[in-house]
Amino acid sequence: MSIPQERHLVTAIPGPKSQELLARKQAAVPTGIGTTLPVFVTRAGGGVVEDADGNRLIDFGSGIAVTNVGNAAPRVVERVQKQVAEFTHTCFMVTPYESYVEVCEKLNELTPGDHDKRTFLVNSGAEAVENAVKVARHATGRQAVVVFDHGYHGRTLLTMTLTAKNMPYKQGFGPFAPEVYRVPLAYAYRWNGDNAAEEAFAQAVDMIEKQIGAQNVAAVVIEPIAGEGGFIEPAKGFLPKVAEYCRANGIVFVADEVQTGFARTGDLFACEDEGVVPDIICTAKGIAGGLPLAAVTGRAELMDKVHAGGLGGTYGGNPLACEAALGVLETIEQDDLVGKARRIGEIMLPRLKALQERFPVIGDVRGRGAMIAIELVEPGTKNPNPAAVAEVVKRCHAEGLLVLTAGTYGNVLRFLPPLVMPEHLLEEGLSILEKAFS
Ligand SMILES: *Cc1c(COP(=O)(O)O)cnc(C)c1O
Repeated sequence: MSIPQERHLVTAIPGPKSQELLARKQAAVPTGIGTTLPVFVTRAGGGVVEDADGNRLIDFGSGIAVTNVGNAAPRVVERVQKQVAEFTHTCFMVTPYESYVEVCEKLNELTPGDHDKRTFLVNSGAEAVENAVKVARHATGRQAVVVFDHGYHGRTLLTMTLTAKNMPYKQGFGPFAPEVYRVPLAYAYRWNGDNAAEEAFAQAVDMIEKQIGAQNVAAVVIEPIAGEGGFIEPAKGFLPKVAEYCRANGIVFVADEVQTGFARTGDLFACEDEGVVPDIICTAKGIAGGLPLAAVTGRAELMDKVHAGGLGGTYGGNPLACEAALGVLETIEQDDLVGKARRIGEIMLPRLKALQERFPVIGDVRGRGAMIAIELVEPGTKNPNPAAVAEVVKRCHAEGLLVLTAGTYGNVLRFLPPLVMPEHLLEEGLSILEKAFS
């Protein structure tokens, strides 16, 4: 790895060069495009991000669960460099190329379930989810789409409609797409009752049957762990129940694994944890090391119902992105990133639970593999405490630890380190976090 795997601060964060660039950004880019930490990056790799002032920060964000294999991962770089010199675009729908087909073959093989599958490629997570809904509607002849509290599915008209949270995703952007219905999610920490999985499922079914009619539902779209919503792992048993209900009612069960996929949770896909087999699985983020790529993988009989030309897009499955995806899949397999993600969880969870013992502001510690979060509350209650999150984040950033927030109530700190992060950096990052709480 060319970039030294150590935290190294030479200026305040952000430093003068980043501040200069930030001023240019503010004059050139609209305010709607936010910034978590305004250091301008010049290099990144392993567990480190280097900025324009020469600071090296510990990366607990992976560009939002994208650089699971690390930035500029060697197998990705090598394949993309070779491809860029050969050809950069033909449009797969005009004249195809092998790498696209190879990515689809691999996803058909690697995603949960051993049924006959088909995959097609698009450019973003939102586009994948939107296309899954198109396929489900076309294949079932039904229109309604059921989504969950705390869900996040993207920023296009349909996917922001599928998304639960108003600010910042929906405010002022209506009217929204029709035929979208939201039901409860088994959020164990905040569920008002003894058995979140059973109770939330019963309420969801009640709403589907009384308000929509199961026979009108084309698809149920769910994240196996709600990402932006605050890393909410539905109470055990909830996902299998929902999948079973879909099967019994001819509803297409769509797993949005855009954030959870590609070894992030300590399984190649998060659905595997409870043996859930989705009819359609949407993937993106971790798929190609940051090159824009996303995929829709589903049962052949559903996917093949759509007429030729009904799906696609100019750039979908760009050859550079496909080569990057092949490099990512090789890296996950050859470097055992599933095992590495589990190891990250084994290191992080006990240290965070110990921190929770010391600081009652930490209400909940949760997650799987390298998708871990803590939820901050007013001590002695479950009242969300976004102010404490903001304070901890500020201190972490000042110390050169890049962390992200999440949560319907803005009170969740989430940790998404690259799966290749060296253990000493992981431990050091946790120490910075502990100090921030102290
Ligand atoms: C990020 C995300 C999306 C949207 O992906 P984009 O590539 O930003 O369009 C959809 N679903 C989930 C679960 C995500 O985390």
